[in-house]
Amino acid sequence: MNLPLPRLCPNCRHYQRIKQRNPLKLWKRKCMCGGSTSDNGIYKNTIEHFHGDQPCLNEFETTYSPDRKEIVYCEKCYLAEVI
Ligand SMILES: [Zn+2]
Ligand SMILES: [Zn+2]
Repeated sequence: MNLPLPRLCPNCRHYQRIKQRNPLKLWKRKCMCGGSTSDNGIYKNTIEHFHGDQPCLNEFETTYSPDRKEIVYCEKCYLAEVI
């Protein structure tokens, strides 16, 4: 037998193919935290953030594209809300 051994399990190979077809794209985005609420006013913060009631200026890379409707916070603001 002289078959090349697949290095990845069938599922991994499948996943690899999906990844190639649909590469993970990172978007540079600005934190949507506007101080006491999200900058579109939809989400109300539960706690005061490190930037007080001024909009957060943090920028970061995310897989959420800018045209998605989710509110995206930077890690600091996110953690302030979830802890
Ligand atoms: Zn932030
Ligand atoms: Zn914040």
